[in-house]
Amino acid sequence: MVRKVTVSLLCFVYIATCYCGKQVYKIGGLFIDEHQKRVFETATGIVNKNLRSSFKLEAHSVVVDTRNSLLTYNEACKLLRKGIVGLFGPSSVHSSPYIQSLCDLKEIPHLETHRYLNLDKDHTLVNIHPHPKTLSKLYFNLVEAFDWHSFIILYDNYENLLSVSSLLEFNSLGRTVVLRQLQINEKSEIDGYRPLLTQVKLTGETKYILVCSTNILETVLQQLQQVGMMTDIYRYIIANLDMQTVELQPFQYAGTNITGVRVMDPESKTVVDTVKRVHRSFKLIEDKAWKLDLESALIVDAVQLFYETIFQFTEDQKSSIRTKPIDCKSYDSWTGGYTIINSLKTNSVGGLTGSVKFDPEGFRTSFNVDILELTPRGLVTVGEWNSTDSNIKSKRVERVTLEGKKRHLFNRTFTVLISLSKPYAMLKENTAQLTGNDRYEGFCVDVIDELARILGFNYTFTVQEDGANGNLDKLTNEWNGMIGEIIKGTADLAITDLTITSERETAVDFTMPFMNLGISILYKKPEPVPPSLLMFVSPFSVSVWVMLGVSYFVVSITIFVMGRLSPREWQNPFPCVEEPEYLINQFTIRNSLWFTIGALMQQGSELAPIAISTRTASGIWWFFVLIMVSSYTANLAAFLTVETLVTPFKNINELAAQKKSNTALRKTEQQLITSDHPENMVTLNEDGVNKVETEDYAFLMESTSIEYATERKCTLAQVGGLLDDKGYGIAMAKDSAYRNDLSRAVLRLQETGVLTGLKIKWWKEKRGGGKCSRKPEGGEATALDLQNVGGVFLVLFIGALLGFFGSFMELLLYVYQKSKVMSLPFKQELKRELKFFVELKQNVKVVSEEVAADGTTEKSLLDYKL
Ligand code: GLU
Repeated sequence: MVRKVTVSLLCFVYIATCYCGKQVYKIGGLFIDEHQKRVFETATGIVNKNLRSSFKLEAHSVVVDTRNSLLTYNEACKLLRKGIVGLFGPSSVHSSPYIQSLCDLKEIPHLETHRYLNLDKDHTLVNIHPHPKTLSKLYFNLVEAFDWHSFIILYDNYENLLSVSSLLEFNSLGRTVVLRQLQINEKSEIDGYRPLLTQVKLTGETKYILVCSTNILETVLQQLQQVGMMTDIYRYIIANLDMQTVELQPFQYAGTNITGVRVMDPESKTVVDTVKRVHRSFKLIEDKAWKLDLESALIVDAVQLFYETIFQFTEDQKSSIRTKPIDCKSYDSWTGGYTIINSLKTNSVGGLTGSVKFDPEGFRTSFNVDILELTPRGLVTVGEWNSTDSNIKSKRVERVTLEGKKRHLFNRTFTVLISLSKPYAMLKENTAQLTGNDRYEGFCVDVIDELARILGFNYTFTVQEDGANGNLDKLTNEWNGMIGEIIKGTADLAITDLTITSERETAVDFTMPFMNLGISILYKKPEPVPPSLLMFVSPFSVSVWVMLGVSYFVVSITIFVMGRLSPREWQNPFPCVEEPEYLINQFTIRNSLWFTIGALMQQGSELAPIAISTRTASGIWWFFVLIMVSSYTANLAAFLTVETLVTPFKNINELAAQKKSNTALRKTEQQLITSDHPENMVTLNEDGVNKVETEDYAFLMESTSIEYATERKCTLAQVGGLLDDKGYGIAMAKDSAYRNDLSRAVLRLQETGVLTGLKIKWWKEKRGGGKCSRKPEGGEATALDLQNVGGVFLVLFIGALLGFFGSFMELLLYVYQKSKVMSLPFKQELKRELKFFVELKQNVKVVSEEVAADGTTEKSLLDYKL
């Protein structure tokens, strides 16, 4: 025990002596927060542990609002007045230029850790942040390795965008690079980045470069997940060196391919030790959650670099450095400064962020990065990149599974035969001269690209010039087209709309089908039928109309009967006579019919029921009318707006029946055409489609091609379902060793929805797809044509004619009765009436003398009135 204490005491005395006799060099630090200050102080503490040195560093640091350049400048002057030998920070684009000028003027070594670009080799500044231009080369190499032909860069500000600036060069290489700024609309802040993300999602692009500040990175990832962009078809490269400090756990199970980079390994011993030390210096318990970010690691490295430089300098010179307090207001400067700066620029140390060294210009262009991929186990290093040779040492930067690596497909190069048939493979529409695989695009091109990613093989496309898929010549027993090429061995794989058939299977091997389809009928879209003249009767079926008529008569008779039965309906015709000789009833049979029709037509009839019974019956009738009229109106609106479409046939049987061939019903679709009309055969699908468009012609084609045509030619449609079931596969030489691997990868693409996504992309989105599903602009209701309401006019006309005819008949009857009663010639009386009718000006009709002289005649004439 005593020995232990003695040893400790001796050590303490030794250390104390070492420290006490040491020269002290002050270093200043300007930082944006308490964490950076602590890191700076901790780093100074670490370097001072070197017992061999004859000096120690003394940290003088302040936290300052670096956006305020004047304040920062004043704080720097205070530090200079203390006689510092080096100034660290501030990490700010706002105040850094001022501090840099001050240090240049006063010849004080200045060490920056921020990505600040305005760096001149003659300056006193040393910036140990990896140079943005070099970083951008890294992202360029990554995109090249992934072979992305199109992608979107999502960036938050121009400063961050600079670190991926070289990616824009891909545009001139014929690839599509789209830039979208992550901005929040002030009016709908609550939506965050979601509206923008939804917009980019609709473009169908699945590859993204995410360049944003660490403080918003997690929010952006969360919102990407919320808009459904964190599924396994999406790929992201996160261009942020602090990616590992962000909480990525919620995204690691989604299967999304997230790649990132880092310059320091948070699990390395030195990093873990430094973090522990910084934590120990924190008083507050909540700071335990703090993670070492890049900038803090660079502060540690900067302090270490500075220490090592001073150490070497003093060792070489065998003397100490003379320090001097500097006043900002004087013209004074520290003459020893430049010597230290030059040593800093030529020195190198192994820091937390790897080897810290500078090129002759003073830029930190030489550094290594780890390429990371987010997996269910967290971030996994899948590759390395070195700035010196700009080369990705691919442990695995492609999405190659471990099993994939083991298989013999890995790193093999295949010749893939394609056929230029839409949308399976097409020449890119590009003004720039393209070469190699870049020349082609299409569904099959993407499928091969996806398979290569999974299995890790390389590929070169060649084109089947004659576009023939492959048929067996029965005479020579030789295969032509793509199948022939595979047999000859000129290509390893063949992919297009190549149907797997039993015959082809005898000559080559196929993978599992990557697309399922069948034969179907392509025909013109059904034409709308012109509306019938009597459309207004359509809302009710015949039985309803009949029931309505019957109800009308029944109710009219009921009211008539009720009227007669009910004493209250018998009314005094002369209200002034208290005791009338007789009573009258308003509900005669004619009035009852008129009363009910008035209600049915939603009009009045001037007849008002008085008795409870007639009122009840009328009320119920009105209720019935209300429901019937409302139903009629609602249904009529639907009938007037809905177009009825007619198809001459609805399936293959009806089509065959149209050909008036009894046997055709049981014939295959090909026989249906060839047997009866060989002239109807076409060699190219396109010719068939054109014939359907221009002639009365139904074309039997593969459903995939029908779908492609109907997405673009809106007058065409598929009629009926599929007539058979088949699939397209990738052909390869018989007994190929890689068939199973390819089949498994195809199934994986199917299960993960990649194939569906590609189908939508090439059928419905690219090259004019989706044209026919777009809604017409405006969408307001169209005006009704005369055809729609013609029947109503017809009824009006017929009704008016009937009325006119009725009134003429009434007149004839009246004249006949009158001539009979008064023993006048019928003709003469009719003439007199007609004469009066023709004199249109006469509005007063004089009662004829004969009638006027005899009151009875007049009375009797009343009875003839209809
Ligand atoms: N799938 C067909 C074949 O493999 C070619 C396309 C077509 O006939 O429409 O031969």
